[in-house]
Amino acid sequence: MDNCIFCKIAAKQIPAQIIYEDDDLLAFNDINPAAPVHFLIVPKKHVATLADCTAEDAALLGKISLLAPKLAQEQGVGYQADGNGPGTGGFKTLFNTGPDGGQEVYHLHMHVIGGPRPWRRSLA
Ligand code: 5GP
Ligand code: ZN
Repeated sequence: MDNCIFCKIAAKQIPAQIIYEDDDLLAFNDINPAAPVHFLIVPKKHVATLADCTAEDAALLGKISLLAPKLAQEQGVGYQADGNGPGTGGFKTLFNTGPDGGQEVYHLHMHVIGGPRPWRRSLA
C-alpha cells in the first residue's frame, strides 16, 4: 500500500524499534508512547481497520491477540494470575477504529500499553 506508514515500517523502508517479527506480524515501539511500555502489533499485510477484517482474517486476529501477552511479558509488563484474586501486573490492549475511535494510522494495529502509571489520560 503506497503511502502507508506501517506498510513502510513492515517493508523496512522507514526505521522503527522492532521488538518482534514473524512471517505475518511485526511489533514495534510506539513513537509517541502513552505509558512506560507502549508497542504496536501490526499485520504485515495491509488491512485498514478492524472493521475491514473478514472471516479470512480470523487467524491473523487470533495471532495478534495471542502475541500480546507474550510480548508484554518480555517487555516487563506481563500478567501473573494468583488463582483466587486479581493477580498482579498486566497491560491494556486496544484497537482504535475510525475517526470516532481515535484512529490516526489506517493500517490495523493493536496497542499494547503497560507499566507504572500515570499514563497519558486518553489511554488510561
Ligand atoms: P492510532 O491513533 O491510529 O490508534 O495509533 C497510531 C499510533 O501510531 C500512535 O500511537 C502513534 O504514536 C504511532 N505512530 C505514528 N507514526 C508512527 C511511526 O512512524 N513510527 C512509530 N513507531 N509509531 C508511529
Ligand atoms: Zn499499510
